[in-house]
Amino acid sequence: MTWWKCSNCGYLFEADTIPEKCPNCGEKCTFYDVTCYTPECGCQGYDPKLVARKDPRIL
Ligand SMILES: [Zn+2]
Repeated sequence: MTWWKCSNCGYLFEADTIPEKCPNCGEKCTFYDVTCYTPECGCQGYDPKLVARKDPRIL
């Protein structure tokens, strides 16, 4: 499963694929992959550092 963040409302959710519309705001938003791929960090599945970024695409 992948964690996604809605670029419009910031909603976080877990899904295999990106939905057509955001489950929270209902808009056709861009979704950012905020999954944490570092098991050692002990986070809940998403990376808080990515979530905190306004645009996680810019690393
Ligand atoms: Zn949204």
